[in-house]
Amino acid sequence: MVHLFKKWDKLKNKLKKKFLFIFLDFDGTLAPITKTPVKADMPEETRKILQGLSKKSSCKIAVISGRSLEDVKNKFTGLSNIIYSGNHGLEIEGPKIKFSPLISSGYKSAIKAIKNTLQNKLLPIKGILLEDKGFSLSLHYRLVDDKQVALAKTIFHETVIKYVGGGRIKVRAGKKVLEVRPASEWDKGKVVLWLLARQKFAKDGSKILPIYIGDDLTDEDAFKAFKRIGITVFVGRPVRSSNAKYYLEDTSEVTKLLRHILEIHSENE
Ligand SMILES: [Mg+2]
Repeated sequence: MVHLFKKWDKLKNKLKKKFLFIFLDFDGTLAPITKTPVKADMPEETRKILQGLSKKSSCKIAVISGRSLEDVKNKFTGLSNIIYSGNHGLEIEGPKIKFSPLISSGYKSAIKAIKNTLQNKLLPIKGILLEDKGFSLSLHYRLVDDKQVALAKTIFHETVIKYVGGGRIKVRAGKKVLEVRPASEWDKGKVVLWLLARQKFAKDGSKILPIYIGDDLTDEDAFKAFKRIGITVFVGRPVRSSNAKYYLEDTSEVTKLLRHILEIHSENE
């Protein structure tokens, strides 16, 4: 993994000539991580740059988040011409796109039962945040005392195990969060490839350069998907296990990259 700005001269030329399809995660990528997801927001500068990019005829922006679609859209109020995907790809909405998956009734009843059980069993643990995202359920334990984290995780796994075994759900881990999701469904990798294919159909495919920027485990599916065909950027301290080619230290470096891209694509006009 190499720091993106170390290769900037080479990348700059590549970025300049192509139509860019920029895929962005939200939390930890555009917005610094906060104690509770409600508080997270991107800086005003980032918002303005995204607004600029979304108006360029040589760029397309998609936000791929683990938040529910409504939740992530609310973070971009006032911006237009952006594609949003919530629930790690389970919901997609944008100009001329609206997509939500067919979810089985077995899954719906499983998630309801899990939510009820977890609400009761986790009640004594302070700081637990159980978030119902419609198509998925997230257990946030960032605010839980270190000594109680293991207990919270045990309760979670004991509750979900029979549904995992029955093939009705799957479980994913992220940064201080455990999630219940449909067993067979889309991940961020599948959704970015789908969106890219759709864009290629509308445009000359050979000129599209996809870029994916993200900071979490769920972003690895997208890094894998674009490994050979695009620019993949991990946000955070470099980790050997990541499938991304480049890294940026933090959200402010992501803003810096987006600012540079906006500048390059303004020169083109
Ligand atoms: Mg993230």
